[in-house]
Amino acid sequence: MPKFWDEYHLPATLDDALELLARYDGRARVIGGGTDLLLDLKEEHYSGEQPHYAALIDVTRIAGANEIREDGGWIVIGCAVTHTQVVASPLIQARATALYEASGVVAGAQIRNTGTVVGNVAHALPAADSAVALAVLDAQVKRQKAKGKSGDWVPIASIYLGPGKSAIDSTRELISAIRFRPTDAQEGSAFTRIMRPQGIALPILGMAARVQLTIVNCQLSITNCAISAGPVAPTLFRAMKTEEFLRGKAVDDATLDEATRVLLSEAQPRTSAHRATREYRVELLPTMLREVLTRATQCANEPMHQ
Ligand SMILES: Cc1cc2nc3c(=O)[nH]c(=O)nc-3n(C[C@H](O)[C@H](O)[C@H](O)COP(=O)(O)OP(=O)(O)OC[C@H]3O[C@@H](n4cnc5c(N)ncnc54)[C@H](O)[C@@H]3O)c2cc1C
Repeated sequence: MPKFWDEYHLPATLDDALELLARYDGRARVIGGGTDLLLDLKEEHYSGEQPHYAALIDVTRIAGANEIREDGGWIVIGCAVTHTQVVASPLIQARATALYEASGVVAGAQIRNTGTVVGNVAHALPAADSAVALAVLDAQVKRQKAKGKSGDWVPIASIYLGPGKSAIDSTRELISAIRFRPTDAQEGSAFTRIMRPQGIALPILGMAARVQLTIVNCQLSITNCAISAGPVAPTLFRAMKTEEFLRGKAVDDATLDEATRVLLSEAQPRTSAHRATREYRVELLPTMLREVLTRATQCANEPMHQ
């Protein structure tokens, strides 16, 4: 096996990481847990390319980057936080159920112990589990380009350019954190996915929902909601028409039936050689929408969210 990089750096501060990226001037690459990147490098090699970096800049030892914290009404997840940490966090369990459920089904324990949530997003695959959950939480990523600068918070969807194509150039910049508003009183979220029994890595289909409820004329009604699914588009997908339809509606069977019709008109799953046909994915969409909406509604009614 050829050598894919020359030097391996473990910077202790964000500024050190940014300085290293600047020094290598596009010849280094950011690495988190490496669970995607190392396989990608091998795949590129076997497909005839010659991937090589002067250095890998490992962001998992940056001070404070392995923390999940509350800050000014946001939940902030640092770039070294693994799926295992997310699943173990009482804050995420109570206030971001969709993310808790999504990170909990990523791969097996070994990958969850190593792979980061930020890496899941930076890889820019529209079916990545945590990314699908973060989409309904209206997450933002912090883009850091230069040492000494505070960086910019940008909407998560804005970094998705196509399958595996990120607007973040991981040879020159990095994502230092992800943040989102936690679910509040009368709000809840949920995630589900369908995976081949022998499957590894990405699911056949994943879906997440976030709902905010209110009581109108003694009936539960949806004030606001967000729905995401993947892969049903080349980039991270939000079902805007379905969300619009659901706003102001009562949570009942008739609403759920109509919502699935709207979803089928806007989600465009494709046939993929390794996972599923378009037709199969289309069959799954209504069942999954019912599941996430029902569970997000239940979650909104649980005492921990009051
Ligand atoms: C066996 C196996 C099973 C898997 N199962 C699943 C699954 O069920 N669901 C799922 O969603 N994923 C799955 N994955 C994919 C992977 O584990 C996750 O996407 C993981 O979260 C990636 O995080 P990482 O830290 O390992 O990323 P890395 O591999 O370190 O990096 C991924 C990409 O993001 C870039 N990057 C990483 N961190 C940063 C940063 N801070 N700033 C800028 N760029 C950055 C890297 O340069 C690289 O391009 C699986 C992988 C394997 C090997």
